[in-house]
Amino acid sequence: MGRTSSTELWTELKGVVWDWGDTLMRDIPGNGGPMVSWPYVEAMPGAAGALRALSRLPVQCVATNATDSDGKRVAEALERVGLRRHLTHFLTSGELGVSKPDPAFFRRVAREMGISPGHLLSVGNDLRKDIVPAKAVGMVTVWVPSVGDAGPGRRGPEGTSAENGAAAAADLIVPNLFRLAQLVPVVSVGGNPSRGPLVREGGQ
Ligand SMILES: [Mg+2]
Repeated sequence: MGRTSSTELWTELKGVVWDWGDTLMRDIPGNGGPMVSWPYVEAMPGAAGALRALSRLPVQCVATNATDSDGKRVAEALERVGLRRHLTHFLTSGELGVSKPDPAFFRRVAREMGISPGHLLSVGNDLRKDIVPAKAVGMVTVWVPSVGDAGPGRRGPEGTSAENGAAAAADLIVPNLFRLAQLVPVVSVGGNPSRGPLVREGGQ
């Protein structure tokens, strides 16, 4: 926590690094092989709206540990649920040669995007894989806990970081992507003055 209370931080965002499974698209148990060939695929609730809201930023990337899909297939799966058009980069651990939670994964992603980590927002459902290592390389982090992941004592009030442990790596904790989309207009982009700190705004 700390630097996210700075208005300046949010004005400096230039891109988003999205996790794929259970963040943008549901990782439905019982399927094998590339998601694009699964009989049924599903976007996570609020994903389209959050991508649309954040499309004010010039670059949005999917960065995944998925092993059955390469970047092309990830893009094709996202196409099936109408999310591809918002995204500019499709990166997989297999192609990058490094996986989450290695912080090097996020450094490599930032390099591929051509944006320094401090200007990137990492959004994911997995605290250990998506949030802690992204924070370690200097990204701003938004944790969208999967149901059941964030019990009492692990999760702070909405809009704040939890006090203890790994959850403190999350600059912002939201219950779902609908909520993130609601918060995005608060994030100043492209030189518009911010209305103020994003993470301390409390329940709105
Ligand atoms: Mg995930």
